[in-house]
Amino acid sequence: MNYLTHLQCSHCGRTHSAEQLIRLCPDCGYPLLAQYDLEKAAAEIDRDELARRPATMWRFRELLPVRDSRYIVTLGEGGTPVLKLNRLGEKLGLKHLYLKDEGQNPTGSFKALGLAAAVSRALELGAHAFVIPTAGNAGGALAAYAARAGAEAHVYMPKDAPLINITEVQMTGADLHLVNGLINDAGREAARDAEAGGWFDVSTLKEPYRVEGKKIMGYELAMAFGWELPDVIIYPTGGGTGLIGMWKAFAEMERLGWIGKQRPRMVAAQSAGCAPIVKAFHEGWEEAKPWPNATTLAGGLRVPVAIGSRLMLRALRESGGTAVAVLDSHILDAQQLLASHEGIFVSLEAAATVAALQELTTSGWIQPDERVLIFNTGSGLKYRLLLT
Ligand SMILES: *Cc1c(COP(=O)(O)O)cnc(C)c1O
Ligand SMILES: [Zn+2]
Repeated sequence: MNYLTHLQCSHCGRTHSAEQLIRLCPDCGYPLLAQYDLEKAAAEIDRDELARRPATMWRFRELLPVRDSRYIVTLGEGGTPVLKLNRLGEKLGLKHLYLKDEGQNPTGSFKALGLAAAVSRALELGAHAFVIPTAGNAGGALAAYAARAGAEAHVYMPKDAPLINITEVQMTGADLHLVNGLINDAGREAARDAEAGGWFDVSTLKEPYRVEGKKIMGYELAMAFGWELPDVIIYPTGGGTGLIGMWKAFAEMERLGWIGKQRPRMVAAQSAGCAPIVKAFHEGWEEAKPWPNATTLAGGLRVPVAIGSRLMLRALRESGGTAVAVLDSHILDAQQLLASHEGIFVSLEAAATVAALQELTTSGWIQPDERVLIFNTGSGLKYRLLLT
């Protein structure tokens, strides 16, 4: 039912079978990416037929890793709208401003896309227990999909993670570990226990398929724009799966003949309190360095080390994009600005894209008639904040 052929290492280029439970490249330790027979797919898939299917991410199932649809674990993820922001656009002097609202996904964040794909494919390959280190939303999503599948989930999150993330994990009966420290500390504890427990670790980009779910955002936005891409995409960047996934989707769609060569300028938005990608981008580094003392209210952006940093930096540079760090105080203002102008209550991570957008329009990096797409990656309803 799909066109998956093999896995290829994003760093050393070696290929590996996709018919095994596998995590990082065994040769060099970098992420593996799924490859498809896109020539065959181009000849056999009609993109307009896909557009008529039910609006979930599985309308693109031929380009997702699950081979037998009986293994698909779904809560109806994907198919979220692209909304035109006229009032905010006018305020910022932009004629064509859009937001793709991933906050409407199951579990209230786009983490649902990645975990639906990763859990489904891992079950197909024989996994029955999962473990994840998380800033919060990915843990909620894993817990939900594991519960849906009747599989075991073990979730490691910082003990200062949002209360709603702790609650949503507990609600499913998943095994929750609250960790002293950040997501990378949670990662260390999770990896240690995974080894002992025989659990499959679905950490960001440390298995090949979460990014496949996230890439569907790229397919969906192309479909929403009539198989053209906007001029600029601003993405709130933590581990970077969305950025990397969309960039992969654009390359796949070009090979499928669904879009042309034109690409959006990709922009990574981070908090000034944890901006390893912004720093590496502006220093000209190929790989980010660990960010010391990471602090930001936007938990999903509190990722001091990302294994996908090379891939993110490559996408930003190849696209002619940039990377912007914004202060948390600006993020909070931007969250209210968007809600008051458009009625969309976004997560703090997503509000960072609005703050970055303000900086890029003020500096002239974005021009008034360009088509700009920002991402809401999670619902603001998942956060508890006191307004002053
Ligand atoms: C995880 C998360 C992010 C960061 O996403 P990456 O793909 O890891 O860069 C952004 N926003 C929200 C709401 C998140 O939960
Ligand atoms: Zn490799």
